[in-house]
Amino acid sequence: MQETRVFRNFIGGAFVDSADGRTQSVIDPATEEVHGHVAVSGRSDVDAAMKAARSAFADWSRRTPAQRQRALLGIADDIERNADELLRIECANTGKPTAVAHAEELPMILEQTRFFAGAARVLEGRAAAEYLPGLTSWVRREPVGVCAQITPWNYPILMAVWKFAPALAAGNAVVLKPAETTPASTLYLAELMAEHLPAGVFNVVCGGRDAGAALAAHSEPDMVSVTGSVRAGKNVAEAAVDDVKRVHLELGGKAPVVVFDDADVQRAAQGIAEAAFFNAGQDCTAATRVLAGPEVHDALVEALTERARATETGPQAAEPFYGPLNNADQPAHVRGVVDRLPEHATVHTGGCRVGERGYFYAPTVVSGLEQGDEAVQTEIFGPVLTVQRFNTEDEAVAMANGVEYGLASSVWTADHGRALRMSRDLDFGCVWINTHIPLVGEMPHGGFKHSGHGKDLSMYGLEDYTRVKHVMSQIED
Ligand code: NAD
Repeated sequence: MQETRVFRNFIGGAFVDSADGRTQSVIDPATEEVHGHVAVSGRSDVDAAMKAARSAFADWSRRTPAQRQRALLGIADDIERNADELLRIECANTGKPTAVAHAEELPMILEQTRFFAGAARVLEGRAAAEYLPGLTSWVRREPVGVCAQITPWNYPILMAVWKFAPALAAGNAVVLKPAETTPASTLYLAELMAEHLPAGVFNVVCGGRDAGAALAAHSEPDMVSVTGSVRAGKNVAEAAVDDVKRVHLELGGKAPVVVFDDADVQRAAQGIAEAAFFNAGQDCTAATRVLAGPEVHDALVEALTERARATETGPQAAEPFYGPLNNADQPAHVRGVVDRLPEHATVHTGGCRVGERGYFYAPTVVSGLEQGDEAVQTEIFGPVLTVQRFNTEDEAVAMANGVEYGLASSVWTADHGRALRMSRDLDFGCVWINTHIPLVGEMPHGGFKHSGHGKDLSMYGLEDYTRVKHVMSQIED
């Protein structure tokens, strides 16, 4: 029988209905049936959450780094102990294959929470010294204050971790809004986290764009952080202007995957197909825009097509590699881009839904595209991989950089010097060499251009949730 439940806000340490009792349905993307109902928050709900966060901030920000570390380590341990239930909730809500979530997502969720627990204790400023006669100076690293955080639906748990872990490690209080289609795991996390945090340090407000807009426009938060579409990021940045709030934006990508003629074709095809179709391509770093050298192009298209045909998905799949697209808008968007492909494009495999029910979409390989084509320029956020041909290294760089996004990229070659030249020339926040997609807590993740600014993960991500204060004292007359 289908599990249905009500997802309520979590404010000041307790689950509460939205002030006016409004809810909306949460649809199971694997069946298109109602999975549950989620609170639709308005201004007064956001207000209550912000007040709870502000009042909790006073105490939390004065805890020692060691105390904050212990809280985050306790949270990570509880996530690990309750991993089966957490991932069951996540997969029931999103349709992700449970085995893949356990193998690929859980290790990152745990490692990255623990990274920020440790990082809480090693924040630093630059040197302290006597820069003027008789005066000494030093830097205090302080939390920013109350952080409004807005997460997307592609990795609900992981994106929550990327937001709350650095924010809490640095001593901030949080009001987080999950996407309206994927509130379940974040609310379960809130319950687990409440055992380790004072009430009000971590609050969850549910709802869609209007709730997100209310968070960004509220006068209380000192910072607003969003992962999502460029449109959402621009709206958040505009809303934050009045109070001059700090804005942290992770807004997706269109990762180029540059494969030179000297690359190992089979190895490249395997790495690219996995990184293109993982999570149904609903990944801002997905390897979906392949640029192939003139000699390797045809063999690569063939190898990618074979890999795509061997990638399982759909309601009948025995061992699905990926689940459905997240919500009804996504298949419509992906189908639209594929339907509008120009005549010079060739669809080698896929280009259609899988099964009669659910938002499953087939692994798709398209070649013959030109740089200005919609499928090359637009973030498809589905399991659709395009392959374009280039002739020279300069042309590869121009094509790779010729989109509005600047989040992630990869280069596949046996030539060390060329790999390093490409890592200099690619205008993206990450360049992988002979691999694509692995992320790690110690290294920053974040983009350039319309992919936004600010870093997730790493000490850079932690520092984004701090402010720097100069203190100067007279020590001699
Ligand atoms: P979206 O950007 O609308 O949603 C992401 C989050 O932002 C959700 O929590 C949403 O409620 C919130 N939001 C949306 N508009 C807002 C606003 N004006 N103010 C405050 N919060 C707002 O994403 P979508 O419309 O569901 O998906 C559209 C496209 O966005 C996708 O096809 C994909 O290209 C991109 N996307 C990118 C990421 C990423 O990881 N960068 C994640 C999800 C979607």
